[in-house]
Amino acid sequence: MTRFSGFRVLKEALTGHNGWAPLWRNPAPKPAYDFVIIGGGGHGLATAYTLAKTFGQANVAVLEKGWIGGGNVGRNTTIIRSNYLLPGNQPFYELSMKLWENLEQDTNFNSMVSQRGIINLIHSDAQRDAYRRRGNAMMLSGAGARLLDVDQLRQMVPFLNYDNARFPIRGALMQSRAGTARHDGVAWGYARGADSRGVDIIQNCEVTGFRVEGGKVQGVETTRGFIGAGKVGVAVAGHSSQVMAKAGLRLPIESHALQAFVSEGLKPTIPGVITFGAGHFYVSQSDKGGLVFGGDIDGYNSYAQRGNLPVVEDVAEGGMALMPMIGRARLLRSWGGIVDMSMDGSPIIDRTPIDGLYFNGGWNYGGFKATPAAGHVFAHLLATDTPHETATAFRFDRFNRGYVIDEKGVGATPNLH
Ligand SMILES: Cc1cc2nc3c(=O)[nH]c(=O)nc-3n(C[C@H](O)[C@H](O)[C@H](O)COP(=O)(O)OP(=O)(O)OC[C@H]3O[C@@H](n4cnc5c(N)ncnc54)[C@H](O)[C@@H]3O)c2cc1C
Repeated sequence: MTRFSGFRVLKEALTGHNGWAPLWRNPAPKPAYDFVIIGGGGHGLATAYTLAKTFGQANVAVLEKGWIGGGNVGRNTTIIRSNYLLPGNQPFYELSMKLWENLEQDTNFNSMVSQRGIINLIHSDAQRDAYRRRGNAMMLSGAGARLLDVDQLRQMVPFLNYDNARFPIRGALMQSRAGTARHDGVAWGYARGADSRGVDIIQNCEVTGFRVEGGKVQGVETTRGFIGAGKVGVAVAGHSSQVMAKAGLRLPIESHALQAFVSEGLKPTIPGVITFGAGHFYVSQSDKGGLVFGGDIDGYNSYAQRGNLPVVEDVAEGGMALMPMIGRARLLRSWGGIVDMSMDGSPIIDRTPIDGLYFNGGWNYGGFKATPAAGHVFAHLLATDTPHETATAFRFDRFNRGYVIDEKGVGATPNLH
């Protein structure tokens, strides 16, 4: 594998850029693998990478129905953070943040991980209490947290509408280690790292069914023929229910479109990520200058990777309430992805009743930040058949037992998480 370095970039610049090789091969599928991962998104690629790197398993294939980075990993608003409250979640997301902090060294790929901080705005005394509690949980897990008063906030982000009559800003919870990462760069870095360790990444290969005999998975039917597998890991995000239905399994997950928006390029304005605490609106600024923002999922279930106008209006209203100057920026692009909304807003990483079939999904609004840890713990589960210590709560049976991990306390209403 070509190693990237400043020296290498300089050499290529002086020699016509003829020495760069493709980042991964384009192999034909083999008849069988020890591990087949369905879904070439961030989670599938990170899982294959970890299987190869940490668990020494090179006989692995990632099957992707489209192209690498074409799913949510390349469609999200790139926010990474570990500012959770509940013990089922916080250690997992903190593991992810630690892995982000070393990702570029680990994969030798520039994923533009930028720890520019996240500010969650507070608009009422009750919200301050809730955020103080969350901040304490973050401090306990080593994630770090700061409670900001209005004067500190005004110095950092003077352009917010502090005196909005309906949503006055009273302060914020900040995580300085949070930030953004270049989403495609994350997928490409993991794909390159996995490929170089022998993993076959097979694009344009849709899984159309499972072959199960005697309660054990034997392999998968695909648009490129049958591929045998010792173990199969499903990491298909918004298509989770569709794919698992092919194995006869019904999930506590709904699929909805989530939209994202980017403005024309502006001079540096927003230092980090800001979230509106009274509505659903979050915004950061890309290195190219575009304001990258989003809000709620679309109201009804859908597999269409495009959004509807009522949510565009709702997101724009949130932006205007928070920072009225955004009304002067022109919108450059918007797009949608399909998110896998679980009933309690938390993910599932678990075995299934079918021997050898494993599931990773239910990522709601927030699976991008989970990518490194999801890969880590899913690979751990696939390789060892035991859950990783930070993912013991992400089980299917929590819905039977009533041990849901409901960060927001809103109950079994996927569109509210
Ligand atoms: C607009 C938007 C904004 C978001 N913003 C954030 C954010 O700021 N921060 C954050 O943490 N999270 C965010 N998310 C969520 C995050 O992007 C996802 O939770 C995460 O990327 C899901 O994991 P993945 O990367 O593996 O999914 P994907 O990239 O969607 O990968 C799944 C892959 O499975 C493939 N697939 C599906 N069916 C089959 C099949 N039958 N056979 C083979 N392959 C199949 C798909 O083509 C796809 O490539 C956002 C999502 C969206 C849509």
